[in-house]
Amino acid sequence: MQYNKLGNTDLELSRLGYGASPLGSVFAQVDQSIGIRTVHSALDWGINYIDCSPYYGLTKAETVLGKALKGIPRDRYILSSKAGRYGPEQADFDMSPARIRASLDESLQRLGVDELDIFLLHDIEFVDLEYVLAESLPCLEALKKEGRIRYFGVTGYPLQSLQKIVQNYQLDCVLSYCRYALHDTSLLSITELLQQHGVGIINASPTAMGLLTKRGAPDWHPAERALIDCCRRAQQLCSERGINITQVAMQFAVSHQAICSTLVGTASPDNLRNNLDWIEQPLDHGLVDEIREIFSDCAHSVWPSGLAENSDS
Ligand code: NAD
Repeated sequence: MQYNKLGNTDLELSRLGYGASPLGSVFAQVDQSIGIRTVHSALDWGINYIDCSPYYGLTKAETVLGKALKGIPRDRYILSSKAGRYGPEQADFDMSPARIRASLDESLQRLGVDELDIFLLHDIEFVDLEYVLAESLPCLEALKKEGRIRYFGVTGYPLQSLQKIVQNYQLDCVLSYCRYALHDTSLLSITELLQQHGVGIINASPTAMGLLTKRGAPDWHPAERALIDCCRRAQQLCSERGINITQVAMQFAVSHQAICSTLVGTASPDNLRNNLDWIEQPLDHGLVDEIREIFSDCAHSVWPSGLAENSDS
């Protein structure tokens, strides 16, 4: 496993990280014991970075992850979790300092740890960014000074929101999702800016939250019909070549050197083993070009997220 330094921090994250949202049965009903086995396999197989959030399964993912991490030496893993998002609706966001502090205490208790390595504001585009800059981020900075967290940053889908925050506040890292994968590589439009500001880049959702798998996207997936159809065409092309589209998706997502770590979610040790084996194999650039050609026809590879003023479209 390759380990990469996260921005200006002293954290070295495995190139592939473990995204714990499936432990909250976000994609499909998950058997807790298999979920726990997947976390143990991830650590045994060289993954040292795990990401979670109170939002995933409405605290279930953190609770199951806490059970999985029990008894494991704290220096064996780098842990991130989040605050600010507690449900799917606009009303479920609260990035006030009081809620952030309470949220951290609750997450630490569920996860069974004394400190988070990385603490992230979850999906900033749903909140007034001026408020995030004036109130929420200073709270994270204070928590860092108090030694409750080691590093902090934000997560979000619209690149414009990430850009605005990075230009106005010194962060340790950002977590972007679905913006560097086979269907959309627009994260590259801000990687130089992030690097100039010393901000580490975490890339999530290499399968675009299930779009680039044989099973396809879950019902709640925000992608428009046109994008789902393009993913089906890409999957058909891969299957004609005798290749699983998820293999190409995984290899592609981890391939860019500006990205420190890519988070994949699964509650299956077999899927995780495949992902780890695939990223060690060479990428078929010819096939990637053909797949990217399919997405170049796609009118809507980006979907709206959050407040209209924070959206990319
Ligand atoms: P993902 O692209 O990792 O897709 C997960 C889906 O892919 C699951 O249905 C899983 O079963 C399937 N899958 C994984 N490996 C597979 C394989 N080898 N074969 C077949 N199917 C496979 O998307 P994700 O889970 O949303 O993202 C990964 C992690 O990134 C999350 O768990 C979370 O930690 C983080 N994330 C954060 C944010 C945010 O902060 N806003 C958003 C998205 C993701």
